[in-house]
Amino acid sequence: MAVVELRNVSKVYDNKLKVVSDVNLTINDKEFVVLVGPSGCGKSTTLRMIAGLEEITEGQIYIDDQLINDISPKERDIAMVFQNYALYPHMTVYENMAFGLKLRKFSKEDIKQRVNDAAKILDLEKYLDRKPKALSGGQRQRVAVGRAIVRKPKVFLFDEPLSNLDAKLRVQMRTEISKLHQKLEATMIYVTHDQTEAMTMGDRIVVMKDGIVNQVDTPMNLYNKPINQFVAGFIGSPAMNFLKGEVIKKDAIKLIVNKEIQLTIPSKFNSVLSKNLGKEITMGIRPEDISSTNDLNNVEFQKLKILVDVVEPMGNETFIYFNIDKKQFIVRVPSSNNYKAGEESDVFFNAGKAFYFDDEGNSLY
Ligand code: ADP
Repeated sequence: MAVVELRNVSKVYDNKLKVVSDVNLTINDKEFVVLVGPSGCGKSTTLRMIAGLEEITEGQIYIDDQLINDISPKERDIAMVFQNYALYPHMTVYENMAFGLKLRKFSKEDIKQRVNDAAKILDLEKYLDRKPKALSGGQRQRVAVGRAIVRKPKVFLFDEPLSNLDAKLRVQMRTEISKLHQKLEATMIYVTHDQTEAMTMGDRIVVMKDGIVNQVDTPMNLYNKPINQFVAGFIGSPAMNFLKGEVIKKDAIKLIVNKEIQLTIPSKFNSVLSKNLGKEITMGIRPEDISSTNDLNNVEFQKLKILVDVVEPMGNETFIYFNIDKKQFIVRVPSSNNYKAGEESDVFFNAGKAFYFDDEGNSLY
């Protein structure tokens, strides 16, 4: 059992800036929670406060109802895996994994059992006699994870553990860590700036910006019901497109972007948008909700003339780039399409799938 609870947790470094602001968060037993956000948003600091590597300026952190603010990192029953592996170069894989247990005065037999068990789980049995320099990046990271596993801690903390790996290995290790979580049934808290890692690994995701938790939710809820424009733009790849305009009512509710672009908003959004008549709002639309065709004559589709800027074939699909008011838009279309860079063409905004935000970026519904 390991529930981690943060109550009104804040961090101020010596320079007096509040880099983590009033975080309230409960991580449930056996849950995999990912802290995600742009670089500098306070993710690592939050994780390091849980680990005991940073002092907590304000607030309380509990593990299983025990207040741990003043408990040393060693006594918190937490293991942390770092981005740079932090392996001892002169020790073998076995010794690296055994080291922490030796320090804690575990018996030789117990150490052997635990290291062998971890090596089995992580497919490191063949490498136990090797030094880190004779391992690939992925294997080194597995040793770092192994060192955490042997301790059988209550809580695992991961600080950007895959950032040093190449793209292919990152994907592989991602699934390995997810499988490990299922196998160990442990509480895990994972920090990354990569929204894809967050989406694919987290039971729940905590989206942070400027030290503030913006939304805590399941991956699909973050995607489908972002609380604000920041979350909407951060989650999803390629990112959501945003279009500013004024809400008016003329026959129907419309979004006036500029002289040429006036979008009719589907009536299902009337109750929300009619409260914003005369105001400037932002429409958000995901690249997959802009179409190259409207074969089914969907009335919610809004035709737009565009000048194609760039065409990026990805193999299974193609990304089309164009600009509105000097802001870049991206569309995902099937790989069989007729778009050509430098030519005028049409796209269709599926206004029924759009998101709407007020002038402060808060979701309107
Ligand atoms: P993230 O993990 O989201 O990239 P961090 O938690 O590492 O962000 O950092 C949050 C903010 O705190 C950043 O602006 C960073 O520059 C600042 N910061 C981190 N460590 C220290 C420190 N030891 N002293 C002063 N400022 C720090």
